[in-house]
Amino acid sequence: MTICLGIESTAHTFSCSLVDEQNILSDVRSIYKPPEGSGIHPREASRHHAEESANVLREALATAKVSIKDVDVLAYSAGPGLGPCLRVGAVVARCLASYHAKPLVPVNHAVGHVELGIRLTHARDPLVLLVSGGHCMILLFSSRRWRVIGETLDITPGQLLDQFGRELGFASPCGARIEELAAKSSKYIRLPYTVKGNDVSYSGLLTAAKKALSSNRVEDVCYSLQETAFAMLAEATERALAFSRKDELLVVGGVAANRRLAEMLATICDRQGARLHVVPIRYAGDCGAQIACTGLEAYKAGIMVEPMKAFVRQSWRIDATDVPWREQSIKISS
Ligand code: AMP
Ligand code: MG
Repeated sequence: MTICLGIESTAHTFSCSLVDEQNILSDVRSIYKPPEGSGIHPREASRHHAEESANVLREALATAKVSIKDVDVLAYSAGPGLGPCLRVGAVVARCLASYHAKPLVPVNHAVGHVELGIRLTHARDPLVLLVSGGHCMILLFSSRRWRVIGETLDITPGQLLDQFGRELGFASPCGARIEELAAKSSKYIRLPYTVKGNDVSYSGLLTAAKKALSSNRVEDVCYSLQETAFAMLAEATERALAFSRKDELLVVGGVAANRRLAEMLATICDRQGARLHVVPIRYAGDCGAQIACTGLEAYKAGIMVEPMKAFVRQSWRIDATDVPWREQSIKISS
């Protein structure tokens, strides 16, 4: 068995995870919490990561009952993400790789969400909806890469929910609290609905939802915000399913934890004759396991970097990232 240690630090979460080919041996996280009503401050989040990194690593090794000497390969999230946060993970990974003479693998964080989702749900060749704080994309695998066939034209669903939640005085991330409030209403207030082809746009919806708070119950606005935002995603995803004729849909990323979104996606899958796979809630948001699982596959496909060249890329797109192992696995199973 090959053991991989994955380090995640793109935004609010610093996490270390140990995996082998069969199991997630540990996945330990420490999440930076900004003050109520505020968003992530990159410098403060990176300070949190630097302070927590040793504890998180120690606990991840102890939970997995693995010594650092038994780790075969190290992986870190090299982007996309917030520069100061990414650099903490890269420095930790670089130091460990140099000191212990281990191979080092840079992982694209978005590929990490998708690969972990596939591993956990056993999806074979799905259309993927990646919805999180940093991403909103509909993805199809073709010619060694995940290709983006639909995306947001402005902010992501995670940013929509978090920025709306901050208006209510909550601290980010706010998606789960908005989901709780939305479940207490069934009164729909009309809000802007913007789908352009396979793309969605949320900035007008955010402004209108904030305005609606002055003359409506909070629960009704939360309900209407979710209904509108998720119906937009469902429409764009249904069009992509019909176009691609895929018979599986996989939803990953922090917003995949939302039950109402899963319900709407189940409806479109029924209509299109596709099977819905939702990443398990525990692994929906950012975590070391997404980096460790992807790093292990990448390592076996020969992807490595010299520690001195282990840089970060704040805006590293998923469709600029080679995924050579996936082509192989699809060939083998078909
Ligand atoms: P990630 O960037 O993948 O860690 O995902 C974080 C995002 O997921 C944040 O914007 C959260 O508000 C959002 N999120 C977490 N739980 C839920 C939920 N139950 N419903 C909607 N969004 C959620
Ligand atoms: Mg993420």
